[in-house]
Amino acid sequence: MNSRRQRGENQWKQISRLLAFLPGREVYRKQYFYSAVHKLSGLEGCVGEHKIIKIQKNDPSKDGFDSVMREVYPDILSVTHSDWLIRPLSEQYLRYSSRDAYLISMLYAHFKERGYINNHRLSTQSARYVSIFQGARPLVTDIFHRHCLLPLHILDYNGSAETRPCISCRRSLPQTAYPPQGWKTPSKRQCWVCRAVSVKSNMTTR
Ligand SMILES: [Zn+2]
Repeated sequence: MNSRRQRGENQWKQISRLLAFLPGREVYRKQYFYSAVHKLSGLEGCVGEHKIIKIQKNDPSKDGFDSVMREVYPDILSVTHSDWLIRPLSEQYLRYSSRDAYLISMLYAHFKERGYINNHRLSTQSARYVSIFQGARPLVTDIFHRHCLLPLHILDYNGSAETRPCISCRRSLPQTAYPPQGWKTPSKRQCWVCRAVSVKSNMTTR
């Protein structure tokens, strides 16, 4: 997210990212509802977006980031998550578990070099993010804590503004997290991100 800001990402790009989460008829027609909603990318998406792995242009077999990952981790797609308790872990599983550490280390080095990471702010932001989950993984049914959107005010909350609780994620958030009517009315006080999650949920359960 910091790199997107520093690279000067415009609102059109930010809204367009949401197309992987909600249909265009929703996010383009109702942009007002989504100006504060940011979709996060997975590790592979980040590495690809920042072009961290160099692709050999004269090698037709390397058609992009996916092909490089398939080369490094050829058996990545055949891992069964329910088998993680089997010991000793097989070579395939060890390789799979090393992948995230490998990608994170590449991203970290790249972000440090480009100045996207401020170590002092990063620790505060990370602590704020982790605190959302209160030490436990959210339940599968907890749609307001299991989504690919950046929870509001992870990056910027300064701790001095008045806050009020969201009826869905239960986080205490400042006025900018809510539509005007939501801020005033406790029963309707749903933050912008939880609103987006609700819209998606209603679309998929309809
Ligand atoms: Zn919320």
